[in-house]
Amino acid sequence: MNDLNADPKAEWLKKDRTYLWHHISPHNDNPIIFVSGEGAWLTDADGNRYFDGMSGLWCVNVGHGREEIAQAAAKQMTTLAYTPLTQSHVPAIELAAKINDWLDGEYRIFFSNSGSDANEVAFKIARQYHRQNGKLGKHKFISRYRAYHGNSMGALGATGQAQRKLKYEPLGIGFSHVPPPYCYRCPFGQQADSCRLECAQAFEDAIIGEGADSVAAVIMEPVITGGGMIVPPDSYLPRIRSICDKYDVLLIMDEVICGFGRSGQRFGHLNYGVRPDIVTMAKGMTSAYSPLSATAVSAELYACFKIPGGDNHFRHVNTFGGNPVSCAVALENINILEREELVSRSAQIGTQLQTLLSPLREHPNVGDIRFFGSAVGIELVDDPISKTPARSDRVAGIIAACFSKGLLIGKNGDTVPGFMNILTLCPPFITTDDELDYIASVLSEVFFGISEEDA
Ligand code: PLP
Repeated sequence: MNDLNADPKAEWLKKDRTYLWHHISPHNDNPIIFVSGEGAWLTDADGNRYFDGMSGLWCVNVGHGREEIAQAAAKQMTTLAYTPLTQSHVPAIELAAKINDWLDGEYRIFFSNSGSDANEVAFKIARQYHRQNGKLGKHKFISRYRAYHGNSMGALGATGQAQRKLKYEPLGIGFSHVPPPYCYRCPFGQQADSCRLECAQAFEDAIIGEGADSVAAVIMEPVITGGGMIVPPDSYLPRIRSICDKYDVLLIMDEVICGFGRSGQRFGHLNYGVRPDIVTMAKGMTSAYSPLSATAVSAELYACFKIPGGDNHFRHVNTFGGNPVSCAVALENINILEREELVSRSAQIGTQLQTLLSPLREHPNVGDIRFFGSAVGIELVDDPISKTPARSDRVAGIIAACFSKGLLIGKNGDTVPGFMNILTLCPPFITTDDELDYIASVLSEVFFGISEEDA
């Protein structure tokens, strides 16, 4: 029997410890139980407020507690919550058209539920496309070390982070990796003035090494986000595009994090002027108010799936993909992004943070600070000369100190076992100037041990 006088938090914790399996982290017997969110802030069961410096998991871009989105979802639920998948419905039609506007190109949109799903769809479409063009051997994919592309066997195969994969191998077959464009620790030993884009050339070498007739596609994010905010030189993506063209290899752009404004443009690749063959997207598409993802396929590729006769159609079904409620949520989310001009606000947040966080560069443990739109990576080292990655306990200490001051930030890395030495920050686009000052002052206090008032 329930004890009405019981402390609800104690009850929730008891049930949490008994029944719930948490994502990502090791067993966590003392989780924060969040109960509400408004704007950029979350509140826990004790009434403590936290600034959501990671927008959840790089996704709640329009902020928490949006009435307009709740109303759009409720209206769609009561009007039409589901339809037979082979037919159509208005929210999916409108959303596909809207995504086309945002992409600046002609694409067909296939809806799924998650970023991992969207990448799996991209892999299957790439393989089928080549087969339907008579290139039966083109089945392999090349991606980068450090990249994360999802949790399923193919998407994890494309992921270049050993620590995430080792316990689950063997994964999808046909995935190989090349070094990332990691200028701070150039895998080719180059400096800015000697760089010949060896990191891009590595793709050409890999395509030749694997056999161009066996390679279906390259998959990459515009910048590696979850693998440590690794931002390439400006000419990197155009060079990858031309290598792909040379060998009839498709370019799949994973915009799961960078899409819908995080980069300061509508999609991350638009910063580099390249046109991918396939674009995958999720998180920011609904600001995580409802699960939804999409795989956008160029009109040229799609034409191959419409050749009359034969078994040309894409044999893939996903019960919840393009769910009307999720599509209605995405449409309202995109309305908000447009109405409140949040893509340019994201760019502005990035510019402001570049100024606000620059004093941190003076700290001996800050090796590098990297930006892509409003996403930030702060690389921690033992000292700037050796660049030895800061140990996990030091990084955990900084995150805990931020947490104690009400700021939630993330950490990434994971290539070298035991090291997660890159702090990450990607605030919601509705973050105010005062809140940006708050973020900077917390980080300054934590790194330098002084508060604004004391200074
Ligand atoms: N691709 C990238 C770049 C991601 O960061 C993620 C998730 O963090 C995924 C794909 C997988 O998305 P999901 O977790 O929705 O399956």
